[in-house]
Amino acid sequence: MRRFDLRSLRFGEGSELERELVVEVAPFHFGGAEYGVAGGQVTLGFMATRVGSRLTLNAELETVLHGPCQRCLEDAHYALVVEGDEYVLEGESEGVEADEEGYVTGHMIDLEVWVRDLIGAELPTKILCRDDCSGLCPVCGQNLNADPDHVHETSTEDAGI
Ligand SMILES: [Zn+2]
Ligand SMILES: [Zn+2]
Repeated sequence: MRRFDLRSLRFGEGSELERELVVEVAPFHFGGAEYGVAGGQVTLGFMATRVGSRLTLNAELETVLHGPCQRCLEDAHYALVVEGDEYVLEGESEGVEADEEGYVTGHMIDLEVWVRDLIGAELPTKILCRDDCSGLCPVCGQNLNADPDHVHETSTEDAGI
């Protein structure tokens, strides 16, 4: 699912509804690599609270980004828990700056963009296989996690042989 029609919410007598919505998430590109969530989808815990013609939408999700470690290029992952609120009046996002677009227009919420922005706001500056990843040898590219004692003879020593 990419978009969701808020008019399909049937509040009945209640003022609160909860849904689980599966939302597509395209891969993120940063640090020169690509990071995606498993299956390209997340399950969004979506809650809508109604007061008159005003809706408060709350989204919560947990996911794990997968991609290469930015030091050693081995598999790395990063777990995220994100949450956000959106305020809607008569089918339009409220509190949106003039030069921005809200997630809700004409009673349709753009879940794909909302989820992308929520995750994007929580991305780390680097994704590493582990905090103390030693990375690759700058001379030969050997993975230094596998071979921590890896060294090269210096050229001056080489010259003395
Ligand atoms: Zn690493
Ligand atoms: Zn080396």
